[in-house]
Amino acid sequence: MFRRFMYGRYGNDQLNNFIIILALITGITSMFTRGTVNLVLYVLQMILLTLWALRAFSRNHYGRRKENSWFLSWRNKMKVKFSGVSKFFKRVADRQHKYFKCPKCKTRLRVPRGRGEITVTCPKCNNRFDKKS
Ligand SMILES: [Zn+2]
Repeated sequence: MFRRFMYGRYGNDQLNNFIIILALITGITSMFTRGTVNLVLYVLQMILLTLWALRAFSRNHYGRRKENSWFLSWRNKMKVKFSGVSKFFKRVADRQHKYFKCPKCKTRLRVPRGRGEITVTCPKCNNRFDKKS
């Protein structure tokens, strides 16, 4: 019976998994809130669940795949962004090295900290310059 109902339906993809996780998070968060915030979270959760169901039971596979590929490219962009942020925090936490950019080609370079004035040679463009470390 269920199988017959699901016949020709789109089912799940990465975007729908993401939607269901968001719905779970809003559901759990709403348990710890009251008043307007609680209501907003509840409505948001209902919207997410409806969206999930509409996509899962949809017969328009082409449209759903398009949404999913849009979602995947957005997710990749976010991944790149967050890897940049985590790299930044790594550099901040690294007390052993000093980070800077080559003034010529903008390649990011790293030198040991506390050596005083040193001459750095950029590995990419062979530009030589003095730097305090
Ligand atoms: Zn360079």
